[in-house]
Amino acid sequence: MRLTQEPIQVLLVFAKEDSQSDAFWWACDRAGFRCNIARTPESAVECFLDKHHEIVVIDGRHSRYFEPEAVCRLIRATKPSENTVLLAVVPQKPPDQEEPSVLPLLCAGFSRRYVENSSVSACYNELIQIEHGEVRCQFKLRACNSVFTALEHCQEAVEITSEDHVIQYVNPAFERMMGYHKGELIGKELTELPKSDKNRADLLDTINTCIKKGKEWQGIYYARKKSGDSIQQHVKITPVIGQGGKIRHFVAIKRPHSDNNKQVSQCELTVLTPPTECHSLRHRDRRKDSVDARSLSSRGSDGKTNRRYSSVARIHSMTIEAPITKVINIINAAQESSPVTVAEALDRVLEILRTTELYSPQLASKEDDPHTNDLVGGLMSDGLRRLSGNEYVFSKSTFQRTSYYITDHLAIPVTLNDVPPSIAEMLDDEERWEFNILELEAATHKRPLTYLGLKIFTGFGVCEFLSCSEATLRSWLQVIEGSYHASNSYHNSTHAADVLHATAYFLRKERVKSSLDQLDEVAALIAATVHDVDHPGRTNSFLCNAGSELAILYNDTAVLESHHAALAFQLTVRDSKSNIFKNIDRNQFRTLRQAIIDMVLATEMTRHFEHVNKFVNSINKPMAAIEESSSNSSDCEGQANIRNSPENRLLIKRMMIKCADVANPCRPLELCIEWAGRISEEYFAQTDEEKRQGLPVVMPVFDRNTCSVPKSQISFIDYFITDMFDAWDAFASLPGLMEHLSENYKYWKNLDEMKCKSLRPPPPP
Ligand code: AMP
Ligand code: ZN
Repeated sequence: MRLTQEPIQVLLVFAKEDSQSDAFWWACDRAGFRCNIARTPESAVECFLDKHHEIVVIDGRHSRYFEPEAVCRLIRATKPSENTVLLAVVPQKPPDQEEPSVLPLLCAGFSRRYVENSSVSACYNELIQIEHGEVRCQFKLRACNSVFTALEHCQEAVEITSEDHVIQYVNPAFERMMGYHKGELIGKELTELPKSDKNRADLLDTINTCIKKGKEWQGIYYARKKSGDSIQQHVKITPVIGQGGKIRHFVAIKRPHSDNNKQVSQCELTVLTPPTECHSLRHRDRRKDSVDARSLSSRGSDGKTNRRYSSVARIHSMTIEAPITKVINIINAAQESSPVTVAEALDRVLEILRTTELYSPQLASKEDDPHTNDLVGGLMSDGLRRLSGNEYVFSKSTFQRTSYYITDHLAIPVTLNDVPPSIAEMLDDEERWEFNILELEAATHKRPLTYLGLKIFTGFGVCEFLSCSEATLRSWLQVIEGSYHASNSYHNSTHAADVLHATAYFLRKERVKSSLDQLDEVAALIAATVHDVDHPGRTNSFLCNAGSELAILYNDTAVLESHHAALAFQLTVRDSKSNIFKNIDRNQFRTLRQAIIDMVLATEMTRHFEHVNKFVNSINKPMAAIEESSSNSSDCEGQANIRNSPENRLLIKRMMIKCADVANPCRPLELCIEWAGRISEEYFAQTDEEKRQGLPVVMPVFDRNTCSVPKSQISFIDYFITDMFDAWDAFASLPGLMEHLSENYKYWKNLDEMKCKSLRPPPPP
């Protein structure tokens, strides 16, 4: 009960003091009740009229002093006794006598009967039972009367409806505002009343959805008066939970809304706030500082409060809602009906969601593993994310652009038909994961991309798809391959050929094949071919630190990947002879171009975890859930729907090229070792140059004099490879790759242990 209750008053009507009256006296004392004693019926009535006791105890054991029924009737005759409990104390009957009926007592106006018992505890128990039962009910009834009295006199229009929206009560202010008499409204369903047509079409649905969930709604609503005029109201509708924990009523409080009204600025603050936000404020306040929305809005004089509301109001006047805002609103709404522990956990979720870097794990232990730190720092940062203060060193022309577009040493043109037999034989093996790209590199004099490209592109029908000749394709492959730096130990055209090989291998996997269409396939093969074109053999961080032309051109953001994608298109369209896109229509070109750019940019490592996590959350998890719930473990329609949606196809393509790009730890050991040596050599060369140029050393562990290649590979696999390939394997089913990965990892671990042992001082004799 929300009205505060005064201590309960008890009147004892006992002609004579005895152990029974004493027991009631002490029982009142124990219960904290106030107690009066009256000796005669007259003084009892007089005292009762003065104090309005909640409980009156009348001694009915000795009829020679007064008739208890008569005293009861006297008291009941007074108006205040309506809410009073009257208790008759009756004599104990010998066990052999029949129990008398209580009916005469009830008829006289008594509420209960107490069989004489002068134990204080017995009296106490009796009194508190009465307090917890009837006294409280009576109190609620009285409080209810007070509340309705308040409603009858308040300025705001109040309407109470049943759970089925049947009007049960309207106050006089409501009658005045709407021009109806209450008799015309009570018993009617809200739907029967004429509505204003000025509201947004979906407003009523919005309101109903909100309040039916047990949430308060407030906002602006146009109501239609009896006269037919519309009136703009500020409305707050609150569901009232009743018997059975269900919504039993809705209370609507309305006041006219006017832009000129001085108070409106304050109304607007809440009005413009949609229910979810309104709730979230209330929710947070409830837990943080125990102030609810109503008291907040009534603290209008508090400048801080007003500012906070007005900014919320401004945000919500935005008509376009970002998905993240929707998510936050849904969580806010869920918090409303959650236990505090859940709500607090959701608060933490919100905190995380509000940060921008949602997908990058925070490196917990910075100093733990220098190899991981350096790889993460070196690969996952560009100029904007990594550099701080004086680390940024501009050095003019430290990054010398070499002549990239040399095609002169590609003098010997090739078609699939005039490929030398030894190379053709080698290429026969191309569909196997274990295909040896290094042998092809040697056999083609470091031109594996053109040969492998011709074979793979032909196999996938790329020329037919693009309506281009094999000669154009060959010329294009030569131009692209010629723009890779043969001088890089890792990022040369053999790496591009390796990535192309992996991409083609993945595209032939059943799950991948059935997820993508031919345009996706063609885009993926082209993206793999060009994805590192003109790579200078230095990382993004290096280019940013060196203030290179490219870093300046691309604002220190995804410098290399932006360059690879942009240059690929420049090189392609520069000369019609090698323009593989020249015969496709504009729309197809745009779609293809978009897909290629997206895949090339996806190879940027700063967004590694974003791509992997999105793939896991949007594809692996939903597919696994369907697999678990369906009795048929084979691929089903639900899974196909997941795979084939445009958003998920985008994620599949990104994941595919990412995995192809760093698949070298999943290659047969011999190849894996070679790639590890090549990337290490490229990193060493960068460190050498950084030292020479006085630039920040991005990955100090990659120093050719001190580096442990096994350790760096273990870190690379642990941090970037294992989870990503687990996810990709779960989707595409790649047991062979996973086997190699595990074998290679063991190899690096053994090597590392052996090195550590050999470095350790010999055990003492
Ligand atoms: P990309 O430059 O497109 O080839 O992106 C892949 C990134 O992973 C590059 O920064 C490589 O340097 C790095 N990477 C690939 N393989 C290895 C490896 N075995 N060890 C360390 N880093 C690697
Ligand atoms: Zn690459």
